[in-house]
Amino acid sequence: MTAHDTIKEPSFRESVDLMFNRAVALMDLSPGLEEKIRVCNATYTVRFGVRLRGAIHTFTGYRSVHSEHMEPVKGGIRYALAVNQDEVEALAALMTYKCALVEAPFGGSKGGLCIDPREWDEHELELITRRFAYELIKRDLINPAQNVPAPDMGTGEREMAWMADQYKRMNTTDINGAACVTGKPPNSGGIAGRVEATGRGVQYALQEFFRYPEDVAAANLSGSLKGKRIIVQGLGNVGFHAAKFLSEEDGALITGIIERDGALHNEKGLDVEAVRAWIVKHGGITGYPDASHQADGPTLLEAECDILIPAALEGVINLSNADRIKAPLIIEAANGPITAGADDILREKGCVIIPDMYANAGGVTVSYFEWVKNLSHIRFGRMQRRAEESRHQLVVDELERLSADKGLGWEISPNFKERYLRGAGELELVRSGLDDTMRAAYQAMREVWHSRDDVHDLRTAAYLVSIRKVADSYRAKGL
Ligand code: NAD
Repeated sequence: MTAHDTIKEPSFRESVDLMFNRAVALMDLSPGLEEKIRVCNATYTVRFGVRLRGAIHTFTGYRSVHSEHMEPVKGGIRYALAVNQDEVEALAALMTYKCALVEAPFGGSKGGLCIDPREWDEHELELITRRFAYELIKRDLINPAQNVPAPDMGTGEREMAWMADQYKRMNTTDINGAACVTGKPPNSGGIAGRVEATGRGVQYALQEFFRYPEDVAAANLSGSLKGKRIIVQGLGNVGFHAAKFLSEEDGALITGIIERDGALHNEKGLDVEAVRAWIVKHGGITGYPDASHQADGPTLLEAECDILIPAALEGVINLSNADRIKAPLIIEAANGPITAGADDILREKGCVIIPDMYANAGGVTVSYFEWVKNLSHIRFGRMQRRAEESRHQLVVDELERLSADKGLGWEISPNFKERYLRGAGELELVRSGLDDTMRAAYQAMREVWHSRDDVHDLRTAAYLVSIRKVADSYRAKGL
């Protein structure tokens, strides 16, 4: 039994509701509308059997729809043994607020399957996934116009490709079938940059935060991301990409990595790619050279660092450890890593928290681009790229002609020329759209954070921005 088990805390869903209530108390919504936005519209539970290894195994899955103020609704599908209705509903609610905050035109949803994917081989997982997808598809809980899943913990491109294929087998004449799920591999209707999108979004969020010296000072920090000591929990899809980009591109130091089997620590900075390769080869971080290893992973959450990035599970910072957390800045790459009680303690201590609904919104943002790409049946940049290059070539040619005619001796550097002449392809456009989204959403939050005397933290600001948008949608519909 851990210390956490002995302290009674609200469930994940109750925790999300408490944070919602704190924000909504500062708004002037009618109690009826407030309640309509808070509650989860529906949760479907399915139990299905699959014949595997000579016996029938029964699995339990969920798909929860929190809000349909915009359709389709959107949210990932998680594979983990701990999946339950409460968790799926909490995650669906966060999706509603997240989509509203980053202006992705979706309602909120989430799904989950109680399974440890590591216990099954690839073929078995395909059978299980296709059967789960079948159950959801026949109830329109996977559908390009109504409900569009994406990857989450324990799922990735592979599972999304199986689900999309299952949908197409069951809806052979739906020309928009590929848009029924996002996060697909590039050769099955996916989009460049989706795999790393959530981690990339975490990087863009931190870059934007560090553009405002007064915000950085609120976290008792100064300067830029360069040299900042970062501890990451969970080196999966989100944690790995965030840590990789922040260390390789922004000069931050990844001084700690917490995984299932303990934690690695090195004040000089860990090689993120090398740690990931070690995990892939050995199944965990244990035995990794060039770092000290501790078997009790979660205590590294309490170590000295500049930025803490929980990127694994919910509830890891809770009443049992919140008062020992030293990081002055926490960015919630995972959903719900800080419980409502811990959030109170950390705010009291002056810790700045960049909230989940904003911090990990990069995934749904690029999923939105993928969905649009699937509906338009054309890759981004296909029509414009060469036209853009030709126009840039005109400018370069003209500058070179002027220089030669007037004897000015100007020389355009080859590096500039190459970069300027290259038209934007899909990956550049996706990154540009993601960066723009993360900047705009941060600015909307900080505007509320700094302009209202009754708002003291970014989470409340994020809720205020997103609840306002959801409320406006409901009002516009005449509810
Ligand atoms: P993932 O399955 O790719 O990675 C999770 C990682 O956490 C794995 O490396 C796993 O070993 C590690 N982990 C599991 N239990 C742990 C523990 N007790 N202690 C330390 N590490 C542990 O999952 P992911 O897609 O990276 O998702 C992580 C979080 O980010 C989740 O909260 C998810 O909801 C959220 N999220 C993911 C996406 C996405 O696009 N994948 C988008 C938004 C939010």
